[in-house]
Amino acid sequence: MTAKHPAPTDLEPVETASRDEITALQLQRLKWTLLHAYNNVPHHKAAFDAKGVHPDDLKTLADLAKFPFMTKADLREEYPFGLLAVPRDQVARLHASSGTTGKSIVVGYTLQDIDHWSNLMARSIRAGGGRAGDMVHVAYGYGMFTGGLGAHYGAERLGCTVVPMSGGQTEKQVQLIMDFKPQIIMVTPSYSLVIAEEFERLGVKPEDISLKIGLFGAEPWGEGMRAEIERKLGIDAIDIYGLTEVIGPGVACECIESKDGPVIWEDHFYPEIIDPNTGEVLPDGSDGELVFTSLTKEAFPVVRYRTRDLTRLLPPTSRAFRRMGKITGRTDDMLIVRGVNMFPTQIEEQILRDKRLSGNYQVLVSRTGHLDDLEVRCEVQRELSGTLSAAELAAIGKELQHHIKTNIGVSTQVSILAFDSIPRTLTGKAKRVVDERPTLV
Ligand code: ADP
Repeated sequence: MTAKHPAPTDLEPVETASRDEITALQLQRLKWTLLHAYNNVPHHKAAFDAKGVHPDDLKTLADLAKFPFMTKADLREEYPFGLLAVPRDQVARLHASSGTTGKSIVVGYTLQDIDHWSNLMARSIRAGGGRAGDMVHVAYGYGMFTGGLGAHYGAERLGCTVVPMSGGQTEKQVQLIMDFKPQIIMVTPSYSLVIAEEFERLGVKPEDISLKIGLFGAEPWGEGMRAEIERKLGIDAIDIYGLTEVIGPGVACECIESKDGPVIWEDHFYPEIIDPNTGEVLPDGSDGELVFTSLTKEAFPVVRYRTRDLTRLLPPTSRAFRRMGKITGRTDDMLIVRGVNMFPTQIEEQILRDKRLSGNYQVLVSRTGHLDDLEVRCEVQRELSGTLSAAELAAIGKELQHHIKTNIGVSTQVSILAFDSIPRTLTGKAKRVVDERPTLV
C-alpha cells in the first residue's frame, strides 16, 4: 500500500544522519557560536564573565548548562543594535518582533544568515509536503514581522511560485486563491479560519478549493483547531514553529507523513528544556520551557535564549532530528484565575470538542472585589447561526462550562454568541485573552 503522503526522496543528508553525526556537528558549531558571541558582543562577554565561564569550557554538549541564559529583557536593553556580532554594514536585513508582549525587539541577518534561513524554510515547506513547482500563497504579514519574508524566501528557494499576498484584505485573498489555484497556503491558524469563513460565505465547498496543504504557525493552536482548519479548507494542516529572536519561522516544522509535532532543525538550533522556575535542564520528554542556542548565525547569535514557550522534546520519527510537542502556552501567557494556573489553549481544546462551536473565541478576565471572574465567549458555526433557540444555546454553554470546570478546574461564565460576533484578526495573531484586572503595584 502506498502511504498517503510519502516522505520526499530528495532529503538533505543531514536529515537522515546518525545521532553521533548530529551531535558531533552540534558540538563543533556550538563552540564556534560561543566564541563568536564572546569575542564580538560585549553583552555576551560580560554575561559569560559574570558566570565565570569561557567558551573553552564547553567540551561536551551538556556543558552548555554552565552558560548564562538570554532573555527578551536583554534584547530590549540592547535595543536596537547592541547584540549584533558583526559590524552594522555587514547586516543585510533587519526584522522586529510583532510585540505580542511589550516593546518590540530588533534582530539582524547577514547574507549568509538569510541564505541559511531560506534553506530551512525550503526544508520546512518540503517537510510539510510542498514540492518544486507548487504555488504558495503567503498570507503571513510582510514587513518587519518575520513571517511573510521568511515564507517567501523559503518558497522561492524550494522552486515554488510565490504569491506574496501578505495579511488582510480577506476578500482579495479568497479571490486570488480562486483565480490562481495555489496548492499551499502559509498563514496564522487564526487568520486561516477567517479565510475559510469567507469561502463559506461565498458558498465554496472545501473540495472545490485548490489548496492541499497549509503551514500554520506564529501562535499556539491545538489538535482541535487543526481538525477544524482541515475540515473547513479541505487540506492537511502542518505546524511550523519559530520566533524572531532565534531566526523567524522555520526553526522547526512538522512532516506531513507523520504530523506528530514540529521537527527541530537541530543542525542550526540547539534545543534544551528547562524548569522555568529553577533554570535546571530537564531530560527529554519533560514539560518545561524551550531554550535555543543558534549554531550558525553570524549577525545575531543567541546563547540559551529563553523562549518562554512551554513544550517538551520528543524522539526523532520521520527525520533524524528530535521533535517538539505542541506549544501548550507561554510562561507569560499563563492566566492565574482564582489560584488556578491555565493557558488559553486549554480552553480552546474544550471549546473545539463541540462541533457546533467555531474556533473563534475570547477569554475575558475581570475582578469583582478580590475575586477573579472568567468569561469565555464563543460562537456557533456559521451554518447554525440563527437556527438555535435560546434554550439550545444555553444548553451548549452549560455543557462547555461543565467541561471547563471538570478538566481545567475553574468556574466560568460562558456566552454562546452568534457567528461572527468576536472580532477577527486580519493581519496576524489572534488576541485570545482580554485581562481587565487591575495590575498589582
Ligand atoms: P512575539 O509574538 O514574541 O512578538 P514572534 O512574532 O517572533 O514574536 O512570535 C514568536 C512566538 O510565536 C513564539 O515564541 C511562540 O510563542 C509563537 N509561535 C510561533 N510558532 C508557533 C507554533 N507553531 N505553535 C505555537 N506557538 C507558536
